[in-house]
Amino acid sequence: MATNTMTDLYVEKLKDLYSAEQQILKALPKMAKAATHAALRDAFETHRQQTEGHVERLDQIFEGLGKSPRGKLCRGVQGIIEEGADLMKEDPEGGILDAGLLAGAQSVEHYEMASYGSARTWAQQLGYAEHADLLQQTLDEEKQTDELLTTLAVETVNRDAELAETPRRPSTTKHAARR
Ligand code: FE
Repeated sequence: MATNTMTDLYVEKLKDLYSAEQQILKALPKMAKAATHAALRDAFETHRQQTEGHVERLDQIFEGLGKSPRGKLCRGVQGIIEEGADLMKEDPEGGILDAGLLAGAQSVEHYEMASYGSARTWAQQLGYAEHADLLQQTLDEEKQTDELLTTLAVETVNRDAELAETPRRPSTTKHAARR
């Protein structure tokens, strides 16, 4: 489709987001299964449920526009998810895997926050006030998820990842004594 107008750009952005959310819906259960921290697993599962709501909001918007949400692949999120899949294939120790998966999930959230922010602003500008409201609701949930992940990383997952790594370090006496 030729992208000539702001409306075209807006619809393309919404399609990109729709594809992103579909890919995230598929990836999150795999990430939850691989995660070793119960709190991280819960965060991935909760976000999967939220993501269903994000898809529903986009469906509502596309219905209003009388357009199909399909026909575009979000390469940005595809790339981030592939990086996570690569890490899972490498199969690092659980604590390290968790830290990597968590960081990947935050990359996805930031991608979505940027895109939902643009889409929301364009919706306002184009006079789609209801869309802007729906997009803002999803944006708020993506931000909350990002903040939750930051808390999990700082308070638990990153520290545990470092502890998991410790025995493999060549040696400080402190850690050597624990072996
Ligand atoms: Fe989302």
